[in-house]
Amino acid sequence: MESPILLITGGGRGIGAATAKLAAQQGYQVVINYRKDASSAEKIVADIIASGGLAHCLQADVSDVKQVTEMFSTIRRNWGPIKALVNSAGVLDQQARFVDTQPDRWQRIFQTNVFGTMQCCQEAFQDMAVSCGGQGGAIVNVSSLASVYGSPNEYVDYAASKGAVDSFSKGFALEVAGDGIRVNVVRPGLIYTDMHADGGEAGRVDRIGPNLPLQRGGQPEEVAEAILWLLSDKSSYSTGGFIDVGGGR
Ligand code: NAP
Repeated sequence: MESPILLITGGGRGIGAATAKLAAQQGYQVVINYRKDASSAEKIVADIIASGGLAHCLQADVSDVKQVTEMFSTIRRNWGPIKALVNSAGVLDQQARFVDTQPDRWQRIFQTNVFGTMQCCQEAFQDMAVSCGGQGGAIVNVSSLASVYGSPNEYVDYAASKGAVDSFSKGFALEVAGDGIRVNVVRPGLIYTDMHADGGEAGRVDRIGPNLPLQRGGQPEEVAEAILWLLSDKSSYSTGGFIDVGGGR
């Protein structure tokens, strides 16, 4: 049987990279999208191939409409239509009170986290939908528990973008269910990745983790397990759903 093609946006680092490795172990042919960190993405690909898996990397900025269109064209041309999609690409900005932030920052965050996710879902529909000649598929959008608690005094704009991802995913899931496509959301809590350094506090997970019910931060691999379950047929009756991976947060 041919390996199903899985596209992971933001697959070169953090949660996306852990998902890529686990997916390759489970038999997917993984396309790892990255924005600028080519060496990290190439290393993940090399690790997967060294372990006997199938992987490729592809540069594209998902906040750019034209680049997303070209990325999907390249995938179709080189490897065929995708069967699975994980939207993991995401950005935040320096911790700040919302009243001290500017519209260009909100737009930058929404452009990647919300519009990038939405456009990738629309492109994936063309590959997967039974009504378009596809064979169905599964999509997992990586949101955040920030959508629930709002990230006050840190990044309310980021939290709002993840709220939009939640609402979009629910509506899209219900629209495409009859077309053989399942759409679900994973909402991580505090996970050890470089994202917190981008917010200006590299040690954030160590600071907050001990106060959580499970008394620690999470590992990207623990999020990847939930993502892979939602991609697999083991979750065949789940769509429009949410799995919180936040240590009880
Ligand atoms: P990360 O380690 O900072 O990785 C983010 C990835 O997204 C990088 O590979 C980056 O690529 C890529 N990316 C960013 N903007 C992009 C764009 N415009 N186009 C294409 N790729 C882009 O972050 P992470 O923690 O793994 O985050 C993954 C997802 O989990 C995000 O959606 C994030 O919001 C969510 N999340 C994370 C946590 C956490 O505690 N870490 C908690 C809740 C939710 P380059 O490196 O090439 O720029």
